[in-house]
Amino acid sequence: MANWRELGGGTSVLATEPLRLNIGLVVGTERALVVDTGEGPRQAAEVLAAVREKTELPLVVVNTHAHYDHYFGNAAFAAAGVTEFYAHENAAATIAQVRDAGTAAGGEREAVADTEPEMAAGEGENTEIVVPTAIVRDQPVLVDLGGVSVTLFYLGRGHTDGDLLVGTSSTLFSGDLVEEGAPPAFEDSYPEEWADVLRHISALRHRYEHLVPGHGGLCSDATVRTMADTMATAVRSARQATRETPDDATKAIPILPYGPEQSRLFIQRLKGSALR
Ligand SMILES: [Zn+2]
Repeated sequence: MANWRELGGGTSVLATEPLRLNIGLVVGTERALVVDTGEGPRQAAEVLAAVREKTELPLVVVNTHAHYDHYFGNAAFAAAGVTEFYAHENAAATIAQVRDAGTAAGGEREAVADTEPEMAAGEGENTEIVVPTAIVRDQPVLVDLGGVSVTLFYLGRGHTDGDLLVGTSSTLFSGDLVEEGAPPAFEDSYPEEWADVLRHISALRHRYEHLVPGHGGLCSDATVRTMADTMATAVRSARQATRETPDDATKAIPILPYGPEQSRLFIQRLKGSALR
């Protein structure tokens, strides 16, 4: 039996390996909604089997954002009859780019060479990239599952430019805007706006009993506030260091509250967003 954790109100969460990715499930009387699909057909098959232990209802899918571990399993869900895939418009645009890039070297598919070799090669069943067509923009979208509804909403750019939040009567699924047990992933991020989004999540937190991060264990509000404060402080420190030595922003790396690799990405992304 799959290791589901019940969160109340028809909501549950499945912790998966190897990335401690959290898969969400919300079950109504007519349909059930799955949050994120895993990193390829192998993992998606396991997730689907786990979902089918809980419900035989038709499924809809939400991809919280356009990182491979959250949507590479879509094709397996499409093969299982899912036609409604939700994502933020920016995430859908990025996923379409990954689809169009095929198996080019340096592409997103390379990330799963070890765990999902068929997906990496783009060969075999359920290895195509399925781009969400149920698009969420700035306005929240309510998905009615029959007696249970789920709100999909966007709080602005953060971990990526298209992070969707998924709110149920008991639980907020944050995608990788919040991660437990790992430093924030800055690769495609907008650090200054991300700190604001985290404050916004904290302000909404009282509405939800549980917060499920993209990876790792459930998070308290204190975790989210610490993450927000740390990021806001890092933004200030990096900006100040950049003012003092404009030619060498890497000078700020030792003073930032992240490891060297995270700090390098952080500065790169902070400089990038300042130019926009
Ligand atoms: Zn991510």
